[in-house]
Amino acid sequence: MGTLRFSAVEKANSRYPQEVKFPAGKTSEYFGVNVFSKRKMQEYLSQEAFASVIEAIDRGTKVDRKVSNQIASGMKAWAVDRGATHYTHWFHPLTGATAEKHDAFFEPSSDVSVIENFDGGNLVQQEPDASSLPSGGMRNTFEARGYTAWDPSSPAFVMGSTFCIPSVYISFKGDSLDYKTPLLKSIEAVDRAAVELCNYFDKSVSKVYIGLGCEQEYFLVDDALFNARPDLKLTDRTLMGHSSAKDQQLADHYFGYIPMRVSAFMREFEIEAYKLGIPVKTRHNEVAPNQYECAPVFEEVNLAVDHNQLLMTIMKRVAKRHNFKVLFHEKPYKDVNGSGKHCNWSIITDSGTNLFAPGKTPRTNMLFLTFFISVIKGVFEYQDLLRSSIVSLGNEHRLGAAEAPPAIMSVFLGSEMNKILDELEARVSGKKMSPDEKTELKLDVGKIPEIMPDNTDRNRTSPFAFTGNRFEFRAVGASTNVASPMIALNTIVASQLKEFKNEVDKLIEKGVKKDEAVFQVIKQFIVSSKKVRFDGNNYSDEWKKEAEKRGLSNVNDVLDALSAMVADKSKALFSEMNVLTPRELDARLEIDIEKYTKKLQIEARVLGDLSINHILPTVYKYQNVLIENVKGLKELFAEKDFEKLAGTQLASIREISSRAAMVNIKVNNMIDERRKSNVIDDVGEKARMYADNVKPYLDEIRYQIDHLEMIVDDEIWPLPKYRELLFIR
Ligand code: ADP
Ligand code: MG
Repeated sequence: MGTLRFSAVEKANSRYPQEVKFPAGKTSEYFGVNVFSKRKMQEYLSQEAFASVIEAIDRGTKVDRKVSNQIASGMKAWAVDRGATHYTHWFHPLTGATAEKHDAFFEPSSDVSVIENFDGGNLVQQEPDASSLPSGGMRNTFEARGYTAWDPSSPAFVMGSTFCIPSVYISFKGDSLDYKTPLLKSIEAVDRAAVELCNYFDKSVSKVYIGLGCEQEYFLVDDALFNARPDLKLTDRTLMGHSSAKDQQLADHYFGYIPMRVSAFMREFEIEAYKLGIPVKTRHNEVAPNQYECAPVFEEVNLAVDHNQLLMTIMKRVAKRHNFKVLFHEKPYKDVNGSGKHCNWSIITDSGTNLFAPGKTPRTNMLFLTFFISVIKGVFEYQDLLRSSIVSLGNEHRLGAAEAPPAIMSVFLGSEMNKILDELEARVSGKKMSPDEKTELKLDVGKIPEIMPDNTDRNRTSPFAFTGNRFEFRAVGASTNVASPMIALNTIVASQLKEFKNEVDKLIEKGVKKDEAVFQVIKQFIVSSKKVRFDGNNYSDEWKKEAEKRGLSNVNDVLDALSAMVADKSKALFSEMNVLTPRELDARLEIDIEKYTKKLQIEARVLGDLSINHILPTVYKYQNVLIENVKGLKELFAEKDFEKLAGTQLASIREISSRAAMVNIKVNNMIDERRKSNVIDDVGEKARMYADNVKPYLDEIRYQIDHLEMIVDDEIWPLPKYRELLFIR
C-alpha cells in the first residue's frame, strides 16, 4: 500500500532538467523550416501552380484539377526532402482535438519496388473512414463517409515524419462536421460586412483580416505523479485531494522564477513551435503553483486557430521528454486557480490599419468608433450565444469561481472610452446638426487618445475587455478549440456591421448627409448597448445584483447555456450570415451535450472505482490499526484510565466509520442514478439527469474523502497528495 505513491514522489524529486539541444544558428534561421511557406512554394512549384495557390490563399478561389497535380508533386518533393514518409489531411473534428489519418507516400507497384505517389486528388480531397467521429446524427452510418478537403489558406507542414495538410471536414451531403468550415465562413462574413463599411470612409480597402492572439494557460505535473493518479490520467483533473497547506496564498509563483526543469521544457517546445512557424513570444509563471502561460504574437485567425491546436499538441509531445504531463483542463485542482485562454481579437485592413486602434484624425476615428460600437452592441445582443461558445463541463468549475469572469457577459471599456461614448451620446441629438456642431463633434472625435494606458491590463475580472487596440475575450477555457468562440464572435460582429451599414443607408436615403448619418447610428448603437458596459469588479456579488437589474442574463448551468446555440435568434443569425444552417447547429448542440454527459459519466466511474478500490480499503486498514491500539489499551489499563487514554482513537474510529459509510452509500447512490440516466434515449434529457442527479455526488463524495485524507496515516495514503502534485522541485 502506498508504494506507488512513494516511488512516484521519489522519482519526481530526483529528476534533473533535461539538456536542450539547440538547432544551429539564430531563431530566424530555423523559424518555419517545417512549413511549406510561400517562399518554399516559389521554389518548389511551377509559376502557374504558385500563382494559383496564392490566388486561392488571398481570394479564396478554387484550384483546378490539373494545377493541383502540379502543386501536389511540388509539395511532395519538399515534404520528402524534410524527411516525411507519410501524409495526412489534418482537421478539427468536433471532438475538440485534431484528427489525422496517415497514408504512406508510396504505393506498391507490380514488382518488388515501390513508387512514391501523391497526386492532386490526394491533396485536394480525402475520405477518411471516420465514422466514429461525432456528427450529431448527421452522418447516418450507411453513408458514413465524411470527406476532408484541403484548406490552402493555412500552410501545410511536416510534423515528425508526417506531412500534414490542414483541411476542412464535411459530410457527404455538404454539412460541416468540423470547426474550420464555419470558421472560414465566419471570416468571409466579417470580410464582406467590414469592407462595405470601411468603404464609407476609405474606398481603397478591399479586404480585412481578423487577428487572433491566444494566451494559453496550462499546468505541468511530473509524469510519475500523474501516472499514480488514475483520476488525472482518465479525466485530466483531480477528483479528490485535500488542499495543500501552502498553495497560492503568498502569490510567490506568479511571474516568479521559472524552475530549471520547466524552463528546459519551455525552450524545447518553443524551438519545435518555431520550426512550425508558430511565433511564441511570451512565457511566465501563472498564479497557481505549477501553472504557466505562453502566448504567440497574434496572427490571422484561421492560422492562429490551427497554430493554437498545434501548439497544444507539440507541448504534450515535448513534455514526454521532460517527464512532464501538460494539463489543459480548466480546473485540474480544487481551491487553486484554473486555466483559461484569453483570445485577443481585432480586425485589420489590407493596408494594415487596425480598426480597433484609435487614429490621429476625426476620419480614422469615426471608422474606429463604428467598429468599436458594433462589437459592443454585438456582445449585448448575443450575450447568450457568446456564452454558449465557451461553456463546457471543465470551464464550469472555473467561471465565476472568484478567479474567472462569471457567466454574465459584459464589456470593459476603461474610463477614457466610456467618457467618449457618454459625450457622443449627449452631443448627437438626432436632429439635424448645424455645421458648427458638426465641426465640433469631429474635433472631439479627433481627440480620442491613441494610447490608453489604463486599458492594457486593468480589468482582469471582465469576460470581454477592450485593451487599447483589441478586444480580449477572457472567459474562454484553456482546453477549448478557439474556433468555437471565434465563429460566434465573428458572426455576431459581421451581423452588427451589416446592420450598421443598413441603418446608415436608410438615413442617407432620407437625405441625411453621410457623416451625420454615421454619427446618428453610432449614437443609436451606444444607446441600445449601454447595459452591457461594466468597468467594476465582475467577481463581486453586487455585480450579480446589478446585472440582474439591467436585465443581463446570467446562466450558470452548462446545459442551459449551451442551448442558446439553437435559439431562434441564433439560428436566424447564422443562416443570414451564411455560417451554419439550423441543421448543423442542432447537430453541434447534440455533440456538445453528449460530450458533457460522457465526460461526467467517466468522472463518476473513476471516482466510484477510486473510492471503493483505493480509498475505502486504505481507510479500513488504518481503522484496524486504531482498533488494535484501543484493544491493547483496554488490556493494559483499568476502565477509568482507559477512557481517558483511548478517547481520541475512539473518536477517530467513529469519524472514519461514519465518513466511510457515507462514501459507500453515496457511491452506490451515484451508480443507481447513472443506471437510471443511462437508459434514457433522449440526449438532452439524459444529460439533464446526469447534471442534476449524478454530478452533485462528485462533490459530496470528494468532501468525505478529503476529510478522510486528513485523518488517515500519511504512510499508507495511496494517491499523491496536492502538496506533492503542485510543486516541481
Ligand atoms: P497581456 O497584456 O494581456 O499579457 P500581451 O501584450 O502579452 O497581453 O498580448 C497578449 C496577446 O495579444 C498576444 O498574443 C498578442 O500578440 C496579442 N495582441 C496584441 N495586439 C493585438 C491585436 N491588435 N489583435 C489581436 N491580438 C493582439
Ligand atoms: Mg491578456
